[in-house]
Amino acid sequence: AGKTDGKGQYRYFEASQSRIIQSRLQLKHRLLEAIELDQFVLYYQPRVDAYTGKVCSMEALVRWIHPQHGLVSPLEFIPMAETTGLILRIGEMVMEKACRQIDEWRSAGLAVVPVSINVSPKQFARGEVHRQLAVYLDRYAIPSSLLEVEITESAMMGEQEEVLAELGAIRALGVKLHVDDFGTGYSSLSQLQKLKMDVLKVDRAFTSELGNSREGRVFFQAIVSMAHALGMSVVAEGVETAEQLGILQELGCNEVQGYYLARPMPAAAIPSVLTQGNLFATTR
Ligand code: C2E
Ligand code: MG
Ligand code: MG
Ligand code: MG
Repeated sequence: AGKTDGKGQYRYFEASQSRIIQSRLQLKHRLLEAIELDQFVLYYQPRVDAYTGKVCSMEALVRWIHPQHGLVSPLEFIPMAETTGLILRIGEMVMEKACRQIDEWRSAGLAVVPVSINVSPKQFARGEVHRQLAVYLDRYAIPSSLLEVEITESAMMGEQEEVLAELGAIRALGVKLHVDDFGTGYSSLSQLQKLKMDVLKVDRAFTSELGNSREGRVFFQAIVSMAHALGMSVVAEGVETAEQLGILQELGCNEVQGYYLARPMPAAAIPSVLTQGNLFATTR
């Protein structure tokens, strides 16, 4: 296993992680081996109500526990997993791990909140996400309201008919759909409404602009107003400061996620978060 910080939690490998991965070929072999040896864990990052601090959901974020280097960020291997197709296996594994974890928390008597999982473009294009979700929800006897799916705008740019069919099939299960990293792609809000997306997660690039300029704030305000007018709710990603949270509250943003509220954490840390229920005191 990787290095621990003494509290039994893994730490990220400090130096440039690109050096771990000396060549693309080597990374592909290592990834395949990692899948076979099950060297992946899910971390969870809470998403909270912007006004009450109540934990609404937790995003599952995959990490590779590298035998020599400890925790490896998904930014280091998801792109390669995408180009090699290994993302199909990793994606299904994430789905299964998330469902198994929800089942464990439920069995332990915790008041669980929904878990959202990230679905990559290649995985989505296969048109099998809805079937896989159905399998794991059924296997672990989990209500579909406890699972949410995050998809980027670019993943929805494929053949309109197929995209609509897959999104419809996921929604028909009762699983909510989130647009991840909104603002980094080229989709319009009206397109996303036609696709019946439930939630817009605004990319952290826009959150980080909030305190810096009037424009940043005006831009975010426009997204919130339009999303609300179209019946979608808004989550700000990457909230790092009290100032940003304050501005987001003034703008009417529904939910927030970011280091200011909570960092992604191992599953073992989640029961106390769920028991605590709120990550900050009510401001309204
Ligand atoms: P994402 O889905 O947009 O997830 C948010 C990323 O931002 C996470 O990085 C999270 O740790 C980070 N983050 C959260 N709050 C803050 C903040 O306040 N400041 C900053 N600077 N960063 C923050 P992470 O865990 O490294 O994941 C990176 C990306 O990798 C994710 O972006 C997602 O696109 C992808 N990813 C993670 N897990 C999976 C997975 O299971 N499947 C797929 N297909 N992609 C995944
Ligand atoms: Mg996400
Ligand atoms: Mg995101
Ligand atoms: Mg993002």
